[in-house]
Amino acid sequence: MPAEPLGMADATLGFDLGGTKLLAALLDGAGRIVAQQRIATPDGAPARVIDAMATLAAELAARAPAVVARAAGIGFPGLVDVARGVARSSVILREWREVPLAAQLSQRLRLPVALDNDVHQAARAERAVRGAAERDFLFLTVGTGIGGALVLRGELWPGAEGLAGEIGHLSVDRDGPECACGRRGCIGVVASGGAIERQLGLAKGGLAAAAAAGDPRVTAALAEAAAALGGALASAINLLALPLVVVGGGVVELDGRFVAAVEAALRRDAMAEIGAATRVERARCGYEAGALGAALHARGVARSASE
Ligand SMILES: [Zn+2]
Repeated sequence: MPAEPLGMADATLGFDLGGTKLLAALLDGAGRIVAQQRIATPDGAPARVIDAMATLAAELAARAPAVVARAAGIGFPGLVDVARGVARSSVILREWREVPLAAQLSQRLRLPVALDNDVHQAARAERAVRGAAERDFLFLTVGTGIGGALVLRGELWPGAEGLAGEIGHLSVDRDGPECACGRRGCIGVVASGGAIERQLGLAKGGLAAAAAAGDPRVTAALAEAAAALGGALASAINLLALPLVVVGGGVVELDGRFVAAVEAALRRDAMAEIGAATRVERARCGYEAGALGAALHARGVARSASE
């Protein structure tokens, strides 16, 4: 997060790489998005995605010529080696194996590039939007899967291998469905959008349409997912006693009651004193969170490069 007042910082670029969409945003020195563009994620080799990122950077620069980016950040949907800037693997972008993404994009843009996973970048955006008053929270996204990040004292807490806050792999059912991590019954395969689609026999990505059509099975499944998620969060909150849990992601948008149901379950299952002191709130950043957070992450890189 910017350690110096907004306005003193550099303009930066942020990229949010998803399984289907690639979003680029250009931030001015005050942290405002001055231009953004979203395209479909190119299929195939990582090199095609890197080409697309370079093209997007040029397009945004042409649209806002007064704002000159001094660094770029990327949110990657999978495992990342932050220190080396390497995209290690992804269950949604299967061709990505040990790709030195930061170095390759840096060469194309002639800018320093910071890389982290997409949920960490979204948590950075949420931290910036919420301001100095809220420095400690657990952040999670509930979409096709469940991702998490831990923000402590205003900073993203990476943990070993950058895996702190991975609440999606908190096991809640040893006999539950198999997870991509190789274990069973992780909350991410029990209470995510993808899990609900499998439970209800919906097509991949079909949950939003079923919810919009008022399918009562979706309402029931969302309520069950919220209860399971709140229960898992109760364990995390008993350990960390954080005052705030922020929930974002596509599933949250499907039912206005989802976040309140998560909070109720958390309070039911956590130690009474801790549960009573913890709020669960919907994320304030929307779909642009990943790109915004990546651009904010890049500011630190811009600063250390100029030192
Ligand atoms: Zn797992």
